[in-house]
Amino acid sequence: MSVKLRGKGVITGIAIAKVLLIGQDFEKYMDLYTPENVESEISKIEKAFAAVADDLAENVKTLKSKGMTEQAGIMEAHRTMVQDPMFKNNAIAKVGEVKSAPRAVLLASEETAAIFENMADEYFRERAVDIRDVGKRVVSRILGLKGPDIGNDPIILCGHEIEPSVIANIPTEQIAGVILGQGSTTCHAVIIAKARAIPTVVGLEKSIDEIKNGDEVIVNGETGEIFVNPTEELMESFEKLIDEQNKLKQHYAELTSLPAETTDGHRVMLVANISTHLDVEAAVTDFGAEGVGLFRSEFLFMGKDEPPDEETQFGAYRDAVEKCNGKLCVIRTMDIGGDKPLPYLNIPKEENPFLGWRALRICLARRDIFMPQVKAILRAGVYGKAAMMLPMVIRLSEIDKVKQIIGEAKTMLKQEDKVFSDNVQLGIMVETPAAAVMTPIFAKHVDFFSIGTNDLIQYTLAVDRVNSNVSYLYDPFNPGVLALIKRTIDSANEHKIWAGMCGEMASDPYAAVILMAMGITELSMSAPSIPRVKELIRSVSMVEAKEAMNKVMSMEHAADIKEYLQGKFSKRNNL
Ligand code: PEP
Ligand code: MG
Repeated sequence: MSVKLRGKGVITGIAIAKVLLIGQDFEKYMDLYTPENVESEISKIEKAFAAVADDLAENVKTLKSKGMTEQAGIMEAHRTMVQDPMFKNNAIAKVGEVKSAPRAVLLASEETAAIFENMADEYFRERAVDIRDVGKRVVSRILGLKGPDIGNDPIILCGHEIEPSVIANIPTEQIAGVILGQGSTTCHAVIIAKARAIPTVVGLEKSIDEIKNGDEVIVNGETGEIFVNPTEELMESFEKLIDEQNKLKQHYAELTSLPAETTDGHRVMLVANISTHLDVEAAVTDFGAEGVGLFRSEFLFMGKDEPPDEETQFGAYRDAVEKCNGKLCVIRTMDIGGDKPLPYLNIPKEENPFLGWRALRICLARRDIFMPQVKAILRAGVYGKAAMMLPMVIRLSEIDKVKQIIGEAKTMLKQEDKVFSDNVQLGIMVETPAAAVMTPIFAKHVDFFSIGTNDLIQYTLAVDRVNSNVSYLYDPFNPGVLALIKRTIDSANEHKIWAGMCGEMASDPYAAVILMAMGITELSMSAPSIPRVKELIRSVSMVEAKEAMNKVMSMEHAADIKEYLQGKFSKRNNL
């Protein structure tokens, strides 16, 4: 019987295929397992940890050679987890208690996962899945179990949680879609699916139990709809949509090497937002990113017990800068705090963390953390074109202090005989109303602005960006927000510096046209969004865009603005 379920569509696209349920039923195998004496069980644990570390190293190599850099990065993190002596020793210590090597490993991984799961920060909570994944890999090794049987046809992966190692090791062309019971959009399975543009629906919760192994399923990553064992008619209508989707993909691929240029020759740079240096390659080659507009460096600081040292950061920044092939790579200094706390920073509990001790405020108070980052960015600048970008700026003295620190960093680097670049641009994120209002002042002191609409909208409209109760008010087209954006771009142009945007608004094709007409020079977004934006830009003239911008700026309601833009541009190409 055909069943319709609904979750949250997080990666657009339609997929039709048979379901492969993911998730090993270890209990069944555990019951069949006969433990030996304590020494033998301990030796099995030692061997399994070493073998899994070797397997993961091999995995990383293979994934890298296939250009699957994001997955390689995640598997590398798993290798670090399995090599953590605390994890293995904890498992060994449990053998006396549970008498069985696989049970001891499961217990140890569960214990560590539970610690992560209880952390306030969503990012850390989600790392529990990775710990369990690594634990299960070791257990599978001891039990002699193999991975899921994929077969030859593409499948839809379905599970309450899907282990990153499972999805990372299945070739892209084998995965038609992903269905997750849990609702997070930032877990690693979703991050991997996003990098591969695989249609994905999350948050099915209990209703996921209605999907059985081998069921034929339609996944609509746009609407979040899932049809289990659909009727013939439904299949036919969705097959047509898939044909259109494939044509669109082909069409987008043809756009990769073309510039984002209007019909009358005005160009905008379309660049990528990345969270690790491993993202750069795919962004440039698969989606035509002309550099990086936002490297969220804080991810280098997360999931660890201490901050990364200068060398570690230098390695990551240098790689990203080099892979930009002479195009600009904008590295944002650590933006921790708000919804991204770091346990080792001991940030005291705050009533309003988004208004609290975060980002540049921490960096200026903790030179021990900031100085290695500044030095690493200056050194990376030697390997291409780099920029340093400061988050959460609200007053000029912050910029002055950073300049002083940059001066000190250069003196230290000279003393240490390390080469560095004198041409690293310094810019700020305009993501607070104060910064936007003060752009005529700031423009005299920095090389560029990048508008961080994710925060600018929340601070301007007093709407918490992660509170779903008020999400209906969170609107980039609110005239108040548009006025601050225009002011920022005008200030940049008047002072002959460049202005870009790295908030999510940049990936909205309609917004992109208006921003371009305002005089923005760069739009930075998640790489798979680039073709859609490029498509619309290539179909309009600057004259037309300016006309639309003037009209939009004279309108009084966000709803009218959106309706107008839709009416004017939605018939273009594939929007
Ligand atoms: C922003 O605020 O728009 C931004 C790009 O930064 P983040 O989303 O990391 O706060
Ligand atoms: Mg921000």
